[in-house]
Amino acid sequence: MIIVMNRYAQDEHIQAVVDKIRAAGLSEHVSRGTERTIIGAVGDERVFSPDAFALMPGVERAMRVVKEYRIVSREVHPADSVVQVRGLSIGGPAIHVIAGPAAVETPEQMALSAQLVRQQGGKLLRGGAFKPRTSPYAFQGVGVEGLDILQQEARRQGLPMVSELLDVRLLDAFLEYDVDVIEIGARNMQNVGLLKEVGRINKPVILKRGPSSTLSEWLMAAEYIAAGGNHNIIFCERGVRSFETSYRNMLDLSSIAVMKRETHLPVMVDPSHAAGKAWMVPSLAKAALAAGADGLMLDIHPDPANAWCDGEQALNPAEFETLMQQLSVLATALGRNLA
Ligand code: PEP
Ligand code: MN
Repeated sequence: MIIVMNRYAQDEHIQAVVDKIRAAGLSEHVSRGTERTIIGAVGDERVFSPDAFALMPGVERAMRVVKEYRIVSREVHPADSVVQVRGLSIGGPAIHVIAGPAAVETPEQMALSAQLVRQQGGKLLRGGAFKPRTSPYAFQGVGVEGLDILQQEARRQGLPMVSELLDVRLLDAFLEYDVDVIEIGARNMQNVGLLKEVGRINKPVILKRGPSSTLSEWLMAAEYIAAGGNHNIIFCERGVRSFETSYRNMLDLSSIAVMKRETHLPVMVDPSHAAGKAWMVPSLAKAALAAGADGLMLDIHPDPANAWCDGEQALNPAEFETLMQQLSVLATALGRNLA
């Protein structure tokens, strides 16, 4: 913690700050300048909040030196972390594509989707059984039955499965159906109750970025999961709210560079929920890989025009095939490979 005294600070004000630091078991480093004095609190600064000093007489401001997120930060863990999912190493040199429909609809739709994902080199199958829709009157997902369908088709194709958990009360069902990667969606990024619960289990978690969240809020949300003991966290950028209306969200490519620097954990990108339009997905997907993403999450559908949810942003089988070919070439050019 660094405490900057204001220019009118008296010796007694400085002494009060020093006393407070010592009372907490830390030591002080006082630097007296010509205009103002700066005091460093040396030791574990987590015992203090900056407010503890900011409100004292003679103090101009107080700030932390170390980041509040620790477990997820690259500062404490410089090497890249790899999250293992059924034998896949996410966050290593290989780039992984998670693909599947926005929502699980029927066994036939999931069978076709799963087959397509495996044939085109996708490595994990996605499918929402519970959908967080903007309108309560929109299709909400088929529910627990969707987990059953997803599991059957994923296992048939030998693909790990990914599904979104909306509510802590459904965690047991997710464990019962052995969902391999639990997705915490953008709308729940700061649902701390949910974050704490998935922190207590050892299943890998994909934590999507909230549509209006800063990167520091995103990292702190991951720290909630990590603090509970679950370090198997994969970040997923999916675009943020902007003033532009011609697409659904603005894909924040800059966040990939910042996140790869700030955290050792894998960072993936979902271009489908950013674009909201299938025709935009290939350019965003390629840009994401070029920017350093460790993987992609893509909405695909065997028949987008008749999808029950988010059909507009789903790639059809031919579009998916073309994109996967391009991604493979790009991954090689980047010194990586499409797993
Ligand atoms: C999803 O992945 O289906 C989804 C709802 O994404 P997001 O939380 O990013 O909106
Ligand atoms: Mn969706």
